[in-house]
Amino acid sequence: MARGNLWVVSAPSGAGKTSLVRALMDREAGLRFSISYTTRPPREGEVDGEDYCFVDEARFREMIEGGEFLEHAQVFGNRYGTARAQVERELESGCSVLLEIDWQGAEQVRRMMPEARSIFILPPSREELESRLRGRGTDSDAVIERRLREAHAELLQWSNFDYAIINDDFDRALQDLRGLIHGRGEGLEADREAVRSLADRLLADTPA
Ligand code: GDP
Ligand code: ADP
Ligand code: 5GP
Repeated sequence: MARGNLWVVSAPSGAGKTSLVRALMDREAGLRFSISYTTRPPREGEVDGEDYCFVDEARFREMIEGGEFLEHAQVFGNRYGTARAQVERELESGCSVLLEIDWQGAEQVRRMMPEARSIFILPPSREELESRLRGRGTDSDAVIERRLREAHAELLQWSNFDYAIINDDFDRALQDLRGLIHGRGEGLEADREAVRSLADRLLADTPA
């Protein structure tokens, strides 16, 4: 059985990565979502073991010490990590696996598993990023402010990713994402210049 492919998806909070990834998972039978561990408290509607495995700081530390993480990072004041065992099991069984993780995690995965392919998702504008974060209605103003502040650091990383997708029209972005997973990334390469100018604009509009 051929080993599955490993995909990494990152984006500033509010860019739409969870919505896109969820829609993708509904359509791609051979692709598995890696459920991360986090110390963040569950949002309303989030289910333990489905959205995340919610753990406390002590348990998270034990997992670090036990070498259980493929990668882990501190993001927006909480810890997040990908358990190695689940990912390995799925890849071995021939399934492809998708990690929805931040840029620090993406960097660690790139180092440990160079065969991984990474995708960065950009919002169409700074205003739209903010309005999506607010419109989602899941986070307090303080949490939203923090996520917007940290968008700059995440955006700086876009060019380290193999592919970039602009999430303006949702269905178009989903189509691009599906194309990538099926090995049709060439067309998107022509858009790299458009992505570069959008990223420059976003960075200018998003104070460091
Ligand atoms: P954020 O993307 O990091 O800002 O966090 P969100 O609150 O947007 O992510 C939660 C959403 O992701 C929920 O609506 C879940 O339905 C979806 N989700 C999380 N894990 C999975 C999964 O394994 N499969 C699918 N299909 N959806 C998932
Ligand atoms: P992330 O996972 O990157 O933090 P979400 O998937 O939670 O982002 O999306 C943030 C909000 O923006 C959600 O309310 C979602 O419904 C909305 N959204 C996502 N993509 C689009 C899009 N292309 N156009 C308009 N709204 C979108
Ligand atoms: P949220 O709290 O909105 O669900 O996620 C916040 C950030 O943490 C997002 O950038 C998300 O991609 C990242 N994240 C989620 N799970 C992991 C993980 O397992 N590892 C790392 N490094 N980042 C993660």
